[in-house]
Amino acid sequence: MTVEQTLAELVAIDSVSARSNAEIISYLRRRCEALGLTIQIFPHVDENGVEKINLVAQTSVCDSPVTESQTGVCATELALVGHTDTVPYDLNWTEVLTLTERDGKLFGRGACDTKAFIAAALTALESIDIAKLRKPLALVFTADEEIGCLGAKRLADAKPFTARHAIVGEPTSLQPMRAGKGYCLAHVTVRGREAHSAYPQLGASAIFRAAKLIGKIEAIAEEVKGDCHAGFDPPYTTINVGVINGGSAKNIIPGECRFTLEWRTIPGQPADEVLGRVRNAVAGLRQSDPDFACEIDADRADDSFETAADSELVQFLEKESGKPSGSVAFGTEAPSMIALDAQAVVFGPGNIRVAHRTGEFVPIDELARCVGILRAAIAHFCM
Ligand SMILES: [Zn+2]
Repeated sequence: MTVEQTLAELVAIDSVSARSNAEIISYLRRRCEALGLTIQIFPHVDENGVEKINLVAQTSVCDSPVTESQTGVCATELALVGHTDTVPYDLNWTEVLTLTERDGKLFGRGACDTKAFIAAALTALESIDIAKLRKPLALVFTADEEIGCLGAKRLADAKPFTARHAIVGEPTSLQPMRAGKGYCLAHVTVRGREAHSAYPQLGASAIFRAAKLIGKIEAIAEEVKGDCHAGFDPPYTTINVGVINGGSAKNIIPGECRFTLEWRTIPGQPADEVLGRVRNAVAGLRQSDPDFACEIDADRADDSFETAADSELVQFLEKESGKPSGSVAFGTEAPSMIALDAQAVVFGPGNIRVAHRTGEFVPIDELARCVGILRAAIAHFCM
């Protein structure tokens, strides 16, 4: 079966994150079983009552347990990781589930993000005599990447295997990406006291209070620019207040104001650094306004990641791709693979700039090159 045929079959299975990924997982399971791999299935029911499944397929299990305390945990040499879910699609996109070739490109939802990588990984493995592999290899297919890398996080928590090296499939135009910013989110609620707006002295404006705090947050955004990481554009942690809501009528002193606080951390900076500074700002505001009431609910703290430039996997992929390693600005499953002890690199065919949009595609030549590079990686690390 060619890599294009495999990709066409994967694209034909609708696997948007809101649906169960059971169908695409059972397809991948059949393909892995045909290769003689040992399958582990990790199902769970998501918060909407929908079944989501992670699949780990290994060439050999527990030939090399990590430590006695982790008996049963297999130390795999190389993990090829692809998420099975896709973002939603426009119903007017007629070729969305029918892989369509045009101008050297293959169009369809997931063609680029990230079914192309999955098809390349399967094709690479099918072209190798698995009996000749001396070190364990794992194919890892996850759920719910597009809604917060939830499947990979569950695997990192369950730790069914550890890995020395992990290639995390994402469209990077075959450039190895060895670092990525973290992603953190908090919901802030500032409270005041309602009153008739003709008598502001009887109340306390939650919006004026929130405005003061947001002014401090803007100053924090400037302060953290001093902490630089040259591998990123921009080279510092960025902060955004993306949504704000408050008040109930033009003539009421507002009693509540809520806003979102989002920040993307550079590697080396703790995920809670910004939150700590914001909490200090609140404490400062309380000194001049003892009633300043504010709740901060930290919602998400996805780690940044950085794999050393001289890591064997980075060096190998730089040589094979002919491209220097770089960094990604979007969230990936790499931190979860690092939690499973891996040197992790994000790598795959297609361009992230055409992902998540109608008309998503993968260039055929990149797809074919990816098969060759993954085959070389399996030979290099596992033979
Ligand atoms: Zn993706």
